Amino acid sequence: MATNRTFTMIKPDAVRNGHIGAILDKICAAGFKIVAMKYTKLSAEKAGEFYAVHKERPFYGELVEFMSSGPIVAAVLEKDNAVADFRKLIGATNPAEAAEGTIRALYATSIGENAVHGADSDENAAIEGSFHFAGTEMFA
Ligand code: ADP
Repeated sequence: MATNRTFTMIKPDAVRNGHIGAILDKICAAGFKIVAMKYTKLSAEKAGEFYAVHKERPFYGELVEFMSSGPIVAAVLEKDNAVADFRKLIGATNPAEAAEGTIRALYATSIGENAVHGADSDENAAIEGSFHFAGTEMFA
């Protein structure tokens, strides 16, 4: 299991608000290398599958609807300590609680529409990367 990769999505709110470039700039400036990337859109079915772990949570329906509401940028990123460092770069789930300068503090609008996703473990980073990309679409 690779411990130096994470998986991210620039969510539909940040895409709609024109923040793709600024967010990618922060990611690259923080030392992450892009291993795979695509501009795509999740169907409601695919969004539901991706967030299946949250099925029982009260916000699941809202989350699926939001994540399938427009295009996203999906990417696999590489850096030492990628998962933890990326979570630090994006900040807390709720932008009101996200540290100053983090991507969510800068670009998220609410706890649900919070600009970016970041995998929460090496295991999930690998699963989520494979959900979006074939091995032939990743470049080490
Ligand atoms: P994170 O994305 O920071 O790992 P979670 O795994 O807890 O956070 O939740 C997944 C996603 O579900 C969040 O990024 C956010 O888009 C949405 N979400 C979490 N909590 C809420 C909430 N209370 N209300 C609405 N949406 C939420």
